[in-house]
Amino acid sequence: MPTNFPQQSEIVNRQINRLSGLRFKWLVFPKDLEERFEKETVQRRSRRLWLEGLLAILLFDLFLIADYFGAPGQFRKAFVIRLLVVTPVCVLANAGMLRMMKSLWRESSIAAAACLAGIAQLYLEFNRSRVASAYVQMAVLAVILFANIVMRLRLPYAVAVSIVMLTGDGIFLWKDAMLRPEDKVFGLGLAIGTTAITLVANYSSCREERLNYLLHLRGELLVSDLNRLNAQLLRRSESDALTGLANRHSFDTQYGELWKKSLIAGTPLSLVIVDVDHFKKLNDRYGHLYGDEVLKRIGSLLQQALRVKDDYAARFGGEEFVILLPGTPETAAIQVAERLRKMVELAGFPGIDPAQGPYDLSIRATVSCGVASVYPTARETPEQLLEAADKALYQAKAQGRNLVCCAPRISPMPSRSFT
Ligand code: GH3
Ligand code: MG
Ligand code: MG
Repeated sequence: MPTNFPQQSEIVNRQINRLSGLRFKWLVFPKDLEERFEKETVQRRSRRLWLEGLLAILLFDLFLIADYFGAPGQFRKAFVIRLLVVTPVCVLANAGMLRMMKSLWRESSIAAAACLAGIAQLYLEFNRSRVASAYVQMAVLAVILFANIVMRLRLPYAVAVSIVMLTGDGIFLWKDAMLRPEDKVFGLGLAIGTTAITLVANYSSCREERLNYLLHLRGELLVSDLNRLNAQLLRRSESDALTGLANRHSFDTQYGELWKKSLIAGTPLSLVIVDVDHFKKLNDRYGHLYGDEVLKRIGSLLQQALRVKDDYAARFGGEEFVILLPGTPETAAIQVAERLRKMVELAGFPGIDPAQGPYDLSIRATVSCGVASVYPTARETPEQLLEAADKALYQAKAQGRNLVCCAPRISPMPSRSFT
């Protein structure tokens, strides 16, 4: 079935409406839905049919007791037909239920087994006695009841079993020499009437089963759609609309978590603040929209500059970005910042609409980076690391921009001076 939710739920709703009315409706769904229904119900249905099949075979064979007392002279024949002909065929058909066969084979093999048992019963009782001819009418009805109501074969197969059994019964009564004609008419009439009732019951329960399935499926689809929308909302609330990077709110959460992890693991945590140089000038010269394009480009370069899975980048606000590098010591963090600085220097300036006039070579998109690292302990705080990186950034700006500067360690390790 296609994964497109609105399409799926529309199909399901249409089918619910179709089956909810009172008028006769074919119990078949559109192809994809029918396949899904079959796939999701085959196991339960096959298992149920298997169990009921076992019960039916047992009951059929228990009739040997009646054969023994009712017609001792024919017991041998009954024994052969019940135990050596019908039972093996039915057991085989029933065993097929455990192999999760396709609907066609599953329903038709059960229908065929039911017909075989019913016809065998008619054959055994044929012209035996008046009582046998009368009682076999009940046996015919028992087979039809079992197939149509207990096993609830799909409607076409239930109709097929009914037609075969009624035809068999008709031939039996036509050839029978024990019953009076009026008894035969009564017997056949009763069988036809009862069969019609079982078919109506079969149709109703199959329709109910399908309707219940659809209602359940609709609930499932709604829940999965809600989950999808929730995930989408969460993603949106955590990401920056312009650059697609994580936003400040998401950064705060992530920073707290990474800090704790590094503290427990005793691994270093580095933080880089990235600020676009002279961004105001760039905005003033080429317009805000172009400034937005530059921010998008830098956001994308930032993602490319990160190599390790756990590295994390966010838009800090305005034209500032922040990178978290868990498990990364100072020297490696400086390399990451330097890589990003170079990338922006080379590619941080998207093409300009010629209508904007010629490039102003004095205005280029470059970034300055402040790097700070720490091996977190209970003495340091995340704010201290941020402050240190901010000071290093200030240093880079003061030294002429388009630079990476690193803060002295804030943990009690041998401190280093700015690079
Ligand atoms: P410095 O090199 O010292 O960082 O100078 P600067 O011009 O980059 O810094 P300043 O803080 O003076 O200006 C930042 C500018 O960034 C001002 C603001 O209009 C612009 N800005 C902030 N957010 C956005 C944005 O989302 N889009 C655009 N186009 N401009 C933004
Ligand atoms: Mg700034
Ligand atoms: Mg700036």
